[in-house]
Amino acid sequence: MISVEEAFQLIEQRVGSLPPLESETIPLSASVGRVLRKQIISDVDSPPHNKSVMDGFAVASRDIRDGVTNFRVLETIVAGTMPTQTVNSGTASRIMTGAPMPSGADAVVMVELSNIGYNDPTPEEVTLLWNGPVEKFTTGKHAMQRAQNFAKGQTIFPAGHRIRPVDVGLLAEVGAAQVEVSRKPTVAVLPTGDELVDCSSVPGDSQIRNSNGPMLNAICQNMGAETIDLGIGGDSVGDLTAKIKKGLDQDFLLLSGGVSAGTMDLVPGILQSQGVVQVFHKVKVKPGKPIFFGVLERDSGRPCLVFGLPGNPVSSLIGVHLFVSTAMRIMMGQTNCRPASRPAVLSAPHQTRGDRPTYWPGRLATEENAAPGAVEPLRWNGSSDLFSLGAAEGLIFMPAREERWDAGEQVLYFPF
Ligand code: AMP
Ligand code: MG
Repeated sequence: MISVEEAFQLIEQRVGSLPPLESETIPLSASVGRVLRKQIISDVDSPPHNKSVMDGFAVASRDIRDGVTNFRVLETIVAGTMPTQTVNSGTASRIMTGAPMPSGADAVVMVELSNIGYNDPTPEEVTLLWNGPVEKFTTGKHAMQRAQNFAKGQTIFPAGHRIRPVDVGLLAEVGAAQVEVSRKPTVAVLPTGDELVDCSSVPGDSQIRNSNGPMLNAICQNMGAETIDLGIGGDSVGDLTAKIKKGLDQDFLLLSGGVSAGTMDLVPGILQSQGVVQVFHKVKVKPGKPIFFGVLERDSGRPCLVFGLPGNPVSSLIGVHLFVSTAMRIMMGQTNCRPASRPAVLSAPHQTRGDRPTYWPGRLATEENAAPGAVEPLRWNGSSDLFSLGAAEGLIFMPAREERWDAGEQVLYFPF
């Protein structure tokens, strides 16, 4: 049985040797979750001009340091207009947040430190009383320099960056109204098992609802994929073969169930009969051991990547979080492809048994006396128990070992 590291490497080799997905140009408003195929270069300075960051009076900072308090007011500059007057010693221009600084002025005194209220009309003369040590009132006080954030021509995001909601404002600022991204990979989702009923039904005595289908659809859509729901596959060669054939037309086929060692575990055999070449089957990991990965080469077009995920929902989830997501990121041309993780310490003692490394549902510790950044393993009954996942924020990775884990021991944390 291969290790998790070997499984990652096999995926990286196999998927990394394929050409990336075709690219397409789409509106920024539809770009969240997509991977940039071209770097984004700014076409503007930010800010585009020296600007005030306060409502107040633009002055030459030297005047304040020299103890000048009375100023003749030249004009009012609001955001969206350009100044027309040059500020000289003894003069000031009223200025609003975001408005361009007039030439000659290098700092702003807040309106609160003047003898007028912020709603008052602009006076001809104003008294400004700086309330701090005057030697600290220097160039740039309450004002920003042109291009202080970034300059025209600067790289904003490299190719391979996955666009997050927080990135959209910045992309808008630099005029990226259209972005070139990888097209969405298509993912066929096929949960299998005679015991499964749709989540809209009430299960009979021997039945359970299909959790994996909706979950795999949701995770893949969240990763920027387009999903095709193949319904529920029954545990028969006929039904599974027909549905698998449909799924093999897509970029990915994700199956759940039927991949381990039961008498109804028909999936690997049917995949093989359809020409899918196995890359690996079974990974030394808990939960999720029976996972299958294979590739179907096609005469025309791209190959189909096939993952047979174990039926238990948390096993399926871990297979997707670790392996399917990695393959999808590689295909989409993303720069960092493995799931994000960070070192953490356990907030409480913990026992895992067996010779496989474990991914355990957890979250940032909420105990008052927990170490900063500590993670808390949740009460969990194993791979069929989705209830704990409802409270989890990620997975805690613990290498295989026999002894109990103590609070404070180093682990790896994989946030969702
Ligand atoms: P299998 O891998 O087919 O042997 O399934 C392992 C366990 O996962 C069994 O208890 C199944 O009932 C359960 N299971 C399989 N598929 C699903 C599914 N789509 N949703 C929820 N549980 C499932
Ligand atoms: Mg089954």
